[in-house]
This record gives sequence, C-alpha cells and structure tokens, in this order.
Amino acid sequence: MSGDLASPVARFAEPKIDSAQILQPTALPGYHIGMRRRYWLGGAGALTAAGLANAAYRVSPAFWHQFSREIGRPVMPTPLIPNPKQWPDRGVYAAWLGHSTVLLKIDGFTLITDPVLGERVGIELGLFTLGIKRLTAPALRTYELPAIDLVLLSHAHMDHMDTPTLRSLESGKTVVVTSPKTSDIFRAARFKQTHELAWGERVRVGPLEIRAFEVNHWGARMRSDTYRGYNGYVIESDGGRRVLFAGDTARTGAFRQLRSSKPFDLAIVPIGAYNPWIRFHCSPEEAWSMGNDAGAERFLPVHHQTFQLSREPLVEPIERFHEAAGREAGRIAVHTIGQEIRL
Ligand SMILES: [Zn+2]
Ligand SMILES: [Zn+2]
Repeated sequence: MSGDLASPVARFAEPKIDSAQILQPTALPGYHIGMRRRYWLGGAGALTAAGLANAAYRVSPAFWHQFSREIGRPVMPTPLIPNPKQWPDRGVYAAWLGHSTVLLKIDGFTLITDPVLGERVGIELGLFTLGIKRLTAPALRTYELPAIDLVLLSHAHMDHMDTPTLRSLESGKTVVVTSPKTSDIFRAARFKQTHELAWGERVRVGPLEIRAFEVNHWGARMRSDTYRGYNGYVIESDGGRRVLFAGDTARTGAFRQLRSSKPFDLAIVPIGAYNPWIRFHCSPEEAWSMGNDAGAERFLPVHHQTFQLSREPLVEPIERFHEAAGREAGRIAVHTIGQEIRL
C-alpha cells in the first residue's frame, strides 16, 4: 500500500459514482478487498486509519454507490422464525437462517453452515461493519441458536465467512471444518478443533463424517490471497443420513461423482448471484440439475433473498428453481427464510 493517504481518504469522502458500473465480485467487500490483516487491531477487529483508507481506496465506486443507497433502507424482518431448541435428538432437521446459513440437527448433533448473522457483511470497523447490507434479517440471532457442535465453512468470501458471527460462536465445545488456508481469518484457537480439508479429504466429527469435494468457484478473500481453498461437503452420519452442502459453485460435473447407491436426504445448493456472475455462480436450472446429478432427494436452495450481490431480481432465483423442478417441485423442501423442515 502507498504511504500517501491523501488520495484514498479523498475517495472515501467523495466517491466517484459510475451508476452504469455494477458491483463486481473482485471489487466489493462482500467478496474480498485489498486489505491486509496487519491493519486489524486485536480481537475487536478495529481498523487503523491507514487500514480504513486503504480499504476505501480499493473498493469500487459501485460499492460506495450501493453502500450510500443502503444506509437508510430498513432490513425486512424474517418471514418465519424456526424453533430449533424443540428439535428432537432423532432424525434430520434443518432451518434456513438466510443466505448460505443453514442450521442442521442430525441424530442429535447440531451443525451450522457458513454462519453469517450480522446486518452487514464486509470489513469490520470496530463496532460496525462496512459492507453490503442484508435485505432480510437472519431468522435467528446467534444468542438464539442452540449449542453448536460443528461449524462448516465452505470458503473465505465475506458472505460466507463472517468474523463477527464466528467470534460469537467461539466455544471449547465446537469444532470447525473449513477449506485449506482459511483458518487464519478467524480465531481458530478459541474452538475445540479446526480442520482444514482439501478436496477428497475427510474428517470424523462426532457421529458425522465430513468429506470435502471440488466445486467450481474461487477462494480469495482479498485480491491477492488466491491460495485460499474453496469446498463443497458431503456429510454422512453413522445413522446413514446424507446431506450435501455445495458451498458456492458455478456449473460443474463434479456432482456426478458424488452419486452413490444411497441418495442424499438433502442437498443445500446455491441458486442466486448468477447475473452476470455465471462464471462463479450457477443458475437455478444448473443447481437443480447438479443436485440431481448427485442423487439428491430433496433440496434446500440458498444464496438468494438475503444480499443484493447481482442484477437478477430478488425472487427470480427461487421462481426459476421452481420452474426447473416442474412437477417435482415438491422436492424443494424450503422456500422461505426461517422455514424449518424435518426429513
Ligand atoms: Zn463465494
Ligand atoms: Zn457467496
């Protein structure tokens, strides 16, 4: 970073807005920005002025346009509120909490995928976060969650790996499974164990075996840290239950290799942020077909209705997903944030 702060600070105060430009995954804090960890101060995640200026400098004008538009916009309340503390210890239960955050209980073992439960995702500035604002509130706040046995993280993009949420989940009883070279982003030592899984690797956690597989995405949180991994996961329980968590992915043939003699009880698949980012995020039709390639019985579509990361209208992904399913739309187990299901 340049030692000259004048230019970045000026940009922070007076963003040049090109309304024709839309947000790009490489240029907004919802994904990654050009900021280095050395600007962070301790556990509170506060930034120095230099860090703030650098962050402001590296974020695209389109981001500032969206940020300023969103300041006064209220966050819609969650349509439904699940009650996971009532879930029994037998069977598979799931609730969609928003974006890619799904709470699951499999035979009494509780896990959460990509927990992101704050009002914004982006850069932490002490008490608030500079980033993309939610459209819809999370279905549960962290203090409303049951005790979490396992946190499953697909990759380091800020809409999937949210350091304030992860801090609130720190516990000596909770295991974290994440993608390669990402555990430096959160305080891994404050959890019971943290496992970084490369594609094809597996780990046993309680009654579950977690296996990472290759998806079609990328892992950099900031501009240059392209070494970070990105995973999908197969979750198998001792009781024979199978759940697929696809993380973020564009179209790929990798799901065919996940098919086995036993179907997946549930496939958690991303269906939004494809316009124009189809190179990074699959379309609803592709998500439907990839889940079927893997042998999914039921679907929990995620990565929509929570953050505006792309051009498509808010409800288009779930509408297209329903159309893709056609007469089999009954296999879509969850449609609404906060909805809970028993499998
Ligand atoms: Zn991503
Ligand atoms: Zn994402």
